[in-house]
Amino acid sequence: MHLELLEVQRRVQGRIPVPHIEISPAIVTRHQAEARPLLRFEDIPLELTDLRLVVRQTADIMHRFDALEETDYQQVQDLGRDVALVEVLGRWYRAGAEKHAAPVGTRPVADPPAESGMLDQVLTLAMRPFLSRCAEVLQQRTELALWTHSHCALCGSEPDFSVITPAAERHLICGRCALRWKFEPLTCPYCRNSDRSRITSFATTDGQYRVYACDVCRRYLKAYDGRRASRPVMPVVDTVATLPLDAAAIQRGYSG
Ligand SMILES: [Zn+2]
Ligand SMILES: [Zn+2]
Repeated sequence: MHLELLEVQRRVQGRIPVPHIEISPAIVTRHQAEARPLLRFEDIPLELTDLRLVVRQTADIMHRFDALEETDYQQVQDLGRDVALVEVLGRWYRAGAEKHAAPVGTRPVADPPAESGMLDQVLTLAMRPFLSRCAEVLQQRTELALWTHSHCALCGSEPDFSVITPAAERHLICGRCALRWKFEPLTCPYCRNSDRSRITSFATTDGQYRVYACDVCRRYLKAYDGRRASRPVMPVVDTVATLPLDAAAIQRGYSG
């Protein structure tokens, strides 16, 4: 299923024009200070025909592999034809983008209404080609090094995978746009716990993958260990390949 989804995403992503995102040291420094991600929803190059196509095809594939129930499937199909699709996407995107931002001098607002878990999953997959295209732009820029938060500099989402580089740095990988950025190797990205005695780490027997689990917030993050690896990290493939590690982490009482 993941390979079919990846194929749809690749096909659409190839057609998306290179987006224009304003990036300069001053802009990134300001966003860093406010913990505010760089990409506004309006700046995502959404082409409506492709967008509808990828929403419907994502639902088709998930339905075929029994990952989407009949009523949910119909709901997504209807949404794919609905004029409100962009509005729904905008709400979904902003909810993710604003979750971790800390506006200076204002009270934190209550969490905006989140889409249901099912819809969030479908929209995350359907929006990946568009967001990844935007991430490619920022990924090339040296200003990215100015970002030290644990949420994504581009879209504001949480990391859902990571990679240990040959230089033993840890780079987090965004769950929505796949941007990679450097983060302290032994600090929990979810609660910022940096007490090493309260980070549990274990690896697969071949040493290719690791789990860093936090004993403060009980969440964990998987990593691809690139120090002895023969290929670069492939987030979609590696996420699926490490499902047994998820089971092991959950069994020890951690959550993703
Ligand atoms: Zn992101
Ligand atoms: Zn934690």
